[in-house]
Amino acid sequence: MQVADKKVVSMQYKLTNDSGEVLDQSQPDSPLIYLHGSGNIIPGLEKGLDGKAAGDVVNVRVSAEEAYGVRDESMVQVLPRSAFQGVDNIETGMQFQAESPNGAVMITVTKINNDEITVDGNHPLAGEALTFDVEITDIRDATAEELDHGHVHGPGGHH
Ligand code: ZN
Repeated sequence: MQVADKKVVSMQYKLTNDSGEVLDQSQPDSPLIYLHGSGNIIPGLEKGLDGKAAGDVVNVRVSAEEAYGVRDESMVQVLPRSAFQGVDNIETGMQFQAESPNGAVMITVTKINNDEITVDGNHPLAGEALTFDVEITDIRDATAEELDHGHVHGPGGHH
């Protein structure tokens, strides 16, 4: 069986940036399990795994455009401290959910200058090319219910 649309793929992975820094990795007892072709994982990785088989070890480098996008400087804003009512201690690195014209986004506090709080609505990995070292451990057909929901059920899945 090969990785294709409507297949459920299990894999072990390690994610590094161009500096070789490990950003994320799966744990041996909990592989990443996703439904291929449903936008569950970033597009560039999905494309790189297409047609692979269980047991394959794959190295996929994904450009920023096909990962979390290029940085959009218009998503960096300076807000007054009063915009953070109910938060006692604002610190850099804090993340908040915010409404934007494109729906909810996660914003990160990047700079604090007295009452001026700079926030960045870019994904923390925006602008970074990512390298995935992947070992595909299992491939199975998705169930009708999984296809209906657009995500995986059972161990490692949603419900
Ligand atoms: Zn579901």
